[in-house]
Amino acid sequence: MKLVVVGGVAAGASVAARTRRLDEFAEIIVFEKSGNVSFANCGLPYHIGEIIKDRSRLLLQTPESLRESLDIDVRVSCEVTAIDPQAHTVTVRNLVTGAEYTETWDKLALCPGSSPVRPPLPGIDNPDVMVLRNIEDMDQIKAKVDAIVADPNAAKHAVVIGAGYIGLEMAENLHDRGLAVEIVEMADQIMPPLDKELSIPMENYLRAHGIALHLATAAAAFTNSRDGQLTVELTSGRFLKTSLVIMSAGVRPNTQLAVDAGLELGPMGGIKVDTHMLTSHPEIWAAGDVVEVENTVLGGPAIIPLAGPANREARVAAESICGRDTVYESTQGTSIVKVFDMVAGGTGATEKQLKAAGIPFLRAHVHPSGHAGYYPGTAQMDIKCLFSPDDGKILGAQITGFDGVDKRLDVMATAIRLGATVQDLEKLELAYAPPFSSAKDPVNMVGFVASNILSGDLDPWYSTDYPENCVGARIIDVRGPSEFDIWHIPGAENVPLGTLRQAQADWDRDTPIRLYCAIGFRSYLAHRSLVQRGFTDVKMLVGGSQTFRAWHAVAPEDVPDPLVPITSYAEEQSLRDAGALPEAEVVGTGIEIDLDCTGLACPGPIMALQSKMAELNPGDDVIAHVSDIGFRLDAPAWAAKNGHDVLDLKPEGPGIVARIRKGGAVAAGGGATLNPVAARLKDKKSFVVFSGDFDKVLAGFIIANGAVAMGDEVSMFFTFWGLNALRRADAPPVDKPLMDQAFAKMMPAGPDKMKLSQMNMLGGGTAMIKKIMRDNKVPSLPELIKSAQDAGVRLVACTMTMDLLGLTEEELIDGVEFGGVAMFLGEANESNANLFI
Ligand code: FAD
Repeated sequence: MKLVVVGGVAAGASVAARTRRLDEFAEIIVFEKSGNVSFANCGLPYHIGEIIKDRSRLLLQTPESLRESLDIDVRVSCEVTAIDPQAHTVTVRNLVTGAEYTETWDKLALCPGSSPVRPPLPGIDNPDVMVLRNIEDMDQIKAKVDAIVADPNAAKHAVVIGAGYIGLEMAENLHDRGLAVEIVEMADQIMPPLDKELSIPMENYLRAHGIALHLATAAAAFTNSRDGQLTVELTSGRFLKTSLVIMSAGVRPNTQLAVDAGLELGPMGGIKVDTHMLTSHPEIWAAGDVVEVENTVLGGPAIIPLAGPANREARVAAESICGRDTVYESTQGTSIVKVFDMVAGGTGATEKQLKAAGIPFLRAHVHPSGHAGYYPGTAQMDIKCLFSPDDGKILGAQITGFDGVDKRLDVMATAIRLGATVQDLEKLELAYAPPFSSAKDPVNMVGFVASNILSGDLDPWYSTDYPENCVGARIIDVRGPSEFDIWHIPGAENVPLGTLRQAQADWDRDTPIRLYCAIGFRSYLAHRSLVQRGFTDVKMLVGGSQTFRAWHAVAPEDVPDPLVPITSYAEEQSLRDAGALPEAEVVGTGIEIDLDCTGLACPGPIMALQSKMAELNPGDDVIAHVSDIGFRLDAPAWAAKNGHDVLDLKPEGPGIVARIRKGGAVAAGGGATLNPVAARLKDKKSFVVFSGDFDKVLAGFIIANGAVAMGDEVSMFFTFWGLNALRRADAPPVDKPLMDQAFAKMMPAGPDKMKLSQMNMLGGGTAMIKKIMRDNKVPSLPELIKSAQDAGVRLVACTMTMDLLGLTEEELIDGVEFGGVAMFLGEANESNANLFI
């Protein structure tokens, strides 16, 4: 048997090697168009970053070694340019000599992989816009980076386009070489195999390392400026000047040869194969990035370009070539990436994919430590597990964290592959000693929480559905007061777990209760207690405030991250000089206390800080080492509240190190902070609601609810027709002039009477929209107004307009404030966004 293999890296080399092991007498020829065979694609970014210093370590095999050990004839720099499926030949061009010849085959394996996408943008052919696929690409990029590093005049700057795992690995390695890196990503998140809330910790971590993210933005053009620098124009209208661009915007299967040979492609555009990796031709197999395979969880065809599947598909192809009946079942897309010390990965389906496929699912979020908290060096991870509401079958899992992420991901991947349920996770007996895990491994914890959800012991509410799922409910925060003070969901009441049993005595049993705590444990206890005490509608926030804050985080690219060193003395001083901050009252004493808070989950670090600060004098510094990543937001808020100064906040291993100076330095007016970071964290939005149209006012309240959910202060100033939104439907009869009465009758009496600005169709359009909103469980306009009020949004009625329209205070809903234009302008001045509705 004579086997010809096209492509000699992951799948190609595997097909050839496995075939040899099964058939000692086959003639095996591998054509590889690049200059190298069987190299380690996955290691390429790390040689550029000089983590893998010795280039030859990436060359796993050479033509000589394959000839010697397996008697395989490898011909590098040889491109197969055509296949004749009838004649059983391939046409080969030697890329060194230019010579062309044909080679016959009995069986053919197509493993040509995929090519990086180079979108047809102006300037895409610029030599400094580079892709990374093979050793030659790596050599070119490394030479360029070496030159940038060596040239004192070169901008030490690179742009990475695409935030999949190759883009992220490149960003880390370029950063390690001393370049400032900006990542441009078309989606509104990095790492597409993750759902958004899981990508956010890593986004924050990247920013913390000074890597800028331009999300929901694409590259539009590349031009050379006169100074010789490359300029990347973004669709957002921004221009980035740089020395190097890495395009890592995905890959496309190399199917041209197959198409020209008349082989069938699948619906996703990859080569169609059966479970033996056989194509539509009875003697041609295919494997690797070029094929479509069955998706393990979603069913149906998928292209999942990863090294593991490529190798396993190749093994099945080789077995089939040699007459065995081995089957390739499916690919579940298990992938993982490390950026600096942080790790993120996923397996199976994401929530986005399940939603798109219409597959019902439930979610569990847990935040356990990688190993026992009391043993040094651990940190919390964030695990999301998606499972079937029918039988608990695991559909997908995603994890971000620092310590032990890979092994939990692999257990979840194994569970999915074996068709396990979340109840099975509870039963797993996994290796435990303090340096490795906890007696209840994170995977067991996922099983416990998910099984509780499934059995109804735990009724969940989810951050993703907020604020709609809290309309009309009491939001109860069962954390301690110090945690509540640092941050809480707008409108929440603080009832610490220890006081709940007493506090609930006179609560209405039928009012919906939405509980939350930091990670879901205390709220679970509260949930069990309230349910057994007769409360009829109690739900607990899955993943607690940690997941909530990740999901509702505001991190637009232009807002400096607290970890980026904007807390420098110089900046603080310049703010003081400009009068933006009062004079510093606390001068350092030179005393520094090291505080190890690693392994402590929130609120542990804050409590440890609180008690340590109590022992110190003003001006003393605490250097706190914290592995809870949420501390980066908590520390400035806690310090501001307590009059301390966060002088420095930096990533450190799997966490953060913060220098906090004891103060007491509360500015005049009380509560104001000397801490510029905390000052900046407080955002304010003001609205002018002028329109009386239903849809416009609805949009206004949706944004207002969203803003307040993100922790912003919001005030809405209602003037002219917008004032009708605040009218009560059951207004008492008011004695007023005839003209005013007529005017009031002509205008909509409250939000329920407002009409669509377009397609009102005598009220039919408005009724339709309201029905669609009801069907989709979108809160009504009056409910949105109520939830905005409950969350602390200030609703201000313009008194001048009230006079003009003849409206009185009694005709407006409760809780409305009254003010004039000066009041609005004051609010607008303090706001960082002002919307005119
Ligand atoms: P390849 O390994 O790309 O091999 C295809 C070969 O075919 C190429 O060398 C090409 O030159 C050759 N070829 C194409 N056309 C012809 C022709 N007409 N004639 C002759 N030869 C031809 N996956 C992971 O799972 N984890 C990772 O961490 C990871 N990191 C990666 C990092 C980088 C930088 C890159 C580029 C990829 C990474 N991958 C990773 C993806 C993984 O490398 C691929 O999924 C895998 O290599 C696919 O194997 P393949 O054999 O299909 O294609």
